[in-house]
Amino acid sequence: MKTLQNGVGMPMTGLGVFNMKDREETIQAIHHAIDTGVRLIDTAKVYGNEEEVGEAIRTASVPREQLFITTKVWNSDQGYDETLKAFDASLQRLGLDYIDLYLTHWPVPEKFTETYRAIERLYEEKLIRVPGVSNHHIHHLEQLAQTANVQPMVNQIEIHPYFQQEELVRYCQQQNIAVTAWSPLGRGDSFDDPVLVEIAKRHRKSPAQIILNWFKTRDIITIPKSVTPSRIEENFHAYDFTLTAEEIAQIKSMNRNARRGVDPDAADMVQQLGG
Ligand code: NAD
Repeated sequence: MKTLQNGVGMPMTGLGVFNMKDREETIQAIHHAIDTGVRLIDTAKVYGNEEEVGEAIRTASVPREQLFITTKVWNSDQGYDETLKAFDASLQRLGLDYIDLYLTHWPVPEKFTETYRAIERLYEEKLIRVPGVSNHHIHHLEQLAQTANVQPMVNQIEIHPYFQQEELVRYCQQQNIAVTAWSPLGRGDSFDDPVLVEIAKRHRKSPAQIILNWFKTRDIITIPKSVTPSRIEENFHAYDFTLTAEEIAQIKSMNRNARRGVDPDAADMVQQLGG
């Protein structure tokens, strides 16, 4: 558990559900994750599966209060009133009466401060337990810091061994903003890297487990995605060994500043993502 600014505990690892399209597969993956011990589920309006996530929660083996549910306001819904409306719709689709963590999905230029103002209101109204953002650079966070009464408590950003975002992570951690890594496994792009293969062999673990364990050494929350039961288990059981300082340094040296997704400063792209 990571204790956030307001004392709420957020699990250090969860299940991302991006690209889970098939209804049964989605529900089964979430159920398997929960049965394995996963308590954090990361969805978004734009993933188009909030209803399935809601159904999986209602029929899960543990009560809703034991789960930590994240969803996000999509780019085309940003702005103050629009965000409040989008939140209600997400809540309905999920069939929940509160969300644990609600995030601005991308900092849409001219809009993200208003979007966050609505998220603050949802927090004041106790409809969310934690206010947060995603894909925010330092300058976006600095802009929010000027106007917000309650600072974002989480920033969910792209991080994996080939794209480590040292400066942004350091800034967030100094500000007591918990960092969550999206695409923590880089969708598998570094699994064959000799550095990881060697470390994995030494610990008799998989490259995915080495990466997830390394994130924990940096105090970064992860939300790996998988629908495969054995991989869901593998990803959850990635913490029963300790990387040496040398191994941590070796993984650090894998950084290539190779972003897989859109740069949040590419305003045109972010607008386009909004459709
Ligand atoms: P990921 O790095 O989690 O990689 C997922 C892929 O890796 C899976 O499709 C699977 O093929 C493979 N995989 C998973 N576990 C494995 C294992 N143990 N062994 C071998 N292969 C394995 O990438 P992702 O899905 O892009 O990111 C994870 C989550 O992050 C998403 O589901 C979503 O919730 C979130 N996300 C957020 C944003 C954002 O803008 N905030 C963007 C992208 C993703």
